[in-house]
Amino acid sequence: ARNLTKHYHLGGGLGGAGQIVRAVDGVSLDIHERETFALVGESGCGKTTLGRIMLRLQEPSGGEINYRGQELTTLDEKGMRALRKKLQVVFQDPYASLNPRMRIEQILAEPLRAHGYGSAAEIRERCAALLEMVGLRRQYLRSYPHQFSGGQRQRIGIARALANNPDFVVCDESVSALDVSIQAQVLNLLRDLQDELKLTYFFITHDLSVVRQFADRVGVMFLGRLVEVGTTEEIFSAPKHPYTMFLISAVPRADPHQRSRERPILKGEIPSPMDMPNGCRFHTRCPFAQDICRTEDPEPQTQGTRTVACHFPLEA
Ligand code: SF4
Repeated sequence: ARNLTKHYHLGGGLGGAGQIVRAVDGVSLDIHERETFALVGESGCGKTTLGRIMLRLQEPSGGEINYRGQELTTLDEKGMRALRKKLQVVFQDPYASLNPRMRIEQILAEPLRAHGYGSAAEIRERCAALLEMVGLRRQYLRSYPHQFSGGQRQRIGIARALANNPDFVVCDESVSALDVSIQAQVLNLLRDLQDELKLTYFFITHDLSVVRQFADRVGVMFLGRLVEVGTTEEIFSAPKHPYTMFLISAVPRADPHQRSRERPILKGEIPSPMDMPNGCRFHTRCPFAQDICRTEDPEPQTQGTRTVACHFPLEA
């Protein structure tokens, strides 16, 4: 992705100027084949919007998306349809994302039919194989979504996303609604499927404990901007952007000695995306802010595996 933006224009009735919400504002990033790239940040920072525009489920306001040498933003509906098979999404809420009136077989057959998979018998066999691939029995094909637990429904959501052998899967808070033990099982399943099917994951979450065990690289988003990117090890052991440091320090640790140590607490409200502060967007909350931070927006700087957008990046 290069310089991706998604701006919404609000209001402006009766000749008023209206307001612009900068949900995604100039994001550039590379995602490597077969990796898990996690995107983290507080609610409302633009994570989901970025995931959706990368798949062109929503149109970007500007920027480029290059997928294996092909520019997606200029493809028409027909061109995009051919690529849809390769670009899929697993949604957060398994209760809302499966049609309650459809049997599991119909749910899984839908994307297969849409892409002309084969005969009715071949589609039926593929649906059964998909269920088994996610650890469910083929007898469940005749069941309805309400007959399954949350974890099982998410497995069905994963099976549906994988129906047409995709390469790139956006997992949008895909385990956030699940209990911790079920979450671990679904994460293990996603990891096994990644190895088996050579998948690339774009893993959107606000849960840093999940990121730590699951991701290869991490991008940190704040108010529509990507403020830091690095390997999971780099981000957790030596964050360079102050916002990343605060996010990491808020992750609970299972170490009784850590409890008594003082942890930095992030104070202040997130500025409104309709009324962005000048300069660095984080300056109203950043304890390291200096004069330049209030006037000049820091450009992302890349060194090796690390990208950070801050005038005064933290030293290890
Ligand atoms: Fe803080 Fe300045 Fe860095 Fe922004 S640019 S994160 S205000 S030190």
